[in-house]
Amino acid sequence: MDQPLKNEIASRRTFAIISHPDAGKTTMTEKLLLFGGAIRDAGTVKGKKSGKFATSDWMEIEKQRGISVTSSVLQFDYDGKRVNILDTPGHEDFSEDTYRTLMAVDSAVMMVDSAKGIEPQTIKLFKVCRMRGIPIFTFMNKMDRMGKEPLELMEELEEVLGIESYAMNWPIGMGKEFMGIYDRHNRRVELARGEGDGRFLEVGEDGDLTEPNPIQDSSYFRQAVDDVQLLDEAGNSFDVDRVKNGELTPVFFGSALTNFGVQTFLETYLKFAPAPQPRTTSDGGEVNPYDDEFTGFIFKIQANMNPAHRDRIAFVRIVSGEFDRGMQVTVPRIPKTFKVSQSTQFLADDRETVNMAVAGDIIGLYDTGNYQIGDTITGGKGRFSFEALPQFTPELFVKVTPKNVMKSKHFHKGILQLVQEGAIQYYKTLHTEEVILGAVGQLQFEVFEHRMKNEYNSEVNMEHIGSKVARWIENEGDVKESMTGPRSMLVKDRYERLVFLFENDFALRWFQDKNPDIQLYSLL
Ligand code: GDP
Repeated sequence: MDQPLKNEIASRRTFAIISHPDAGKTTMTEKLLLFGGAIRDAGTVKGKKSGKFATSDWMEIEKQRGISVTSSVLQFDYDGKRVNILDTPGHEDFSEDTYRTLMAVDSAVMMVDSAKGIEPQTIKLFKVCRMRGIPIFTFMNKMDRMGKEPLELMEELEEVLGIESYAMNWPIGMGKEFMGIYDRHNRRVELARGEGDGRFLEVGEDGDLTEPNPIQDSSYFRQAVDDVQLLDEAGNSFDVDRVKNGELTPVFFGSALTNFGVQTFLETYLKFAPAPQPRTTSDGGEVNPYDDEFTGFIFKIQANMNPAHRDRIAFVRIVSGEFDRGMQVTVPRIPKTFKVSQSTQFLADDRETVNMAVAGDIIGLYDTGNYQIGDTITGGKGRFSFEALPQFTPELFVKVTPKNVMKSKHFHKGILQLVQEGAIQYYKTLHTEEVILGAVGQLQFEVFEHRMKNEYNSEVNMEHIGSKVARWIENEGDVKESMTGPRSMLVKDRYERLVFLFENDFALRWFQDKNPDIQLYSLL
């Protein structure tokens, strides 16, 4: 591989922002894009006045645009780096796609609302990142409001998420009294109300300012200096390798809304965030981003909700090499080779897209039904596949039947395809073979219903059976049907594996007490 291409790849930083709804992800994304010059005004990311990106808006937008591509990957250049931010929807759009998107990034930024601390959706997304061992950078947001004490927030990271932390900076005051941050990493104080270079004050060896400044009289400033001293003595030390392995999260304080601390965060983040990483193959090998051959894998397939355009877009994370328009790609699973000239859409901030994409980038391929989630794609002759994408434990379930039994062929065909595509998970009851669908987010059911009707001409009845705790079984041979009861249901998944669906955690514990020999496990 020639040096210019190597440099291109080394400049990529591909990440996702994970957070609970309302922590400030959209606001942060807008601010990052402003720094990157990708947008001129804030407020252009997802026109969401209500602070929500509702299901109906999503479908409407899909219709208007034909397909929503730009909202899935945002790209901008900063400080010689090309930044790819992958969208991980929250709210009702939360789905398995959200999890799978985390398979395509090299690092994650975790936004925390400092008044609320670590919230449920953050925990879920964090676990997926943790499992991959990717670096996680934390931004404690909304410091312009009264929130929890910074030390308490740091403790929560450790206690709730079990990750060690290192404060890169520390807030000076909070809410109306928020004066700025004490930047440990850059050894300076950044004033919330300062302008230009004047907003930075240098910090000396003793931890105090090198030049006298009125801020030194403030009790908040003294408190911050004391806290930082405490962290220096008793806290974790900064260790780049531990950050890279996802064992230590660097923590930044700031306010996305007032755009305070965002630039410092971005610059420090880009310094430590990893360039594209190698990926493991199913036979235990590894593909390096700097390998000459183009390779990638599909982590998401987005169907067009507009019946006039049947096509779908398969999102590919490029693992190695370079992708060019017009190249031949092979999907070893089928195996089939396609020329992707017209069928390719590059995902960038606008239509003036670059004519090439390299390892670390995301491209969208028009799909007429060839691709599946998890597919490996190569530009060469290699017949290998990347390690399979994980399956996630669903939490919501519905029983589904065709409205018109005469059309059960359409019904089964539709389900089969949508399950293969990864849109939804399939289960069936043991003897009656009723179809049960599982999902991690409610929207998956709505999309399923919509697509069954529009793409497979099959209207469905969906009976909600609520949330369940799904557990797979290590020693299936020991399971007897008499072990099921009103609070547990035994079903099979699409691979014919037995699965217990428990009413709740209590029912699960009760079952384990009664049947201590049955070894249960959950997927991710
Ligand atoms: P998302 O759901 O995570 O994308 O959150 P949004 O970015 O839509 O923010 C949710 C709400 O919090 C909005 O009303 C924002 O204006 C507000 N918000 C975001 N960042 C801050 C911040 O730093 N300070 C304050 N006070 N509000 C913020």
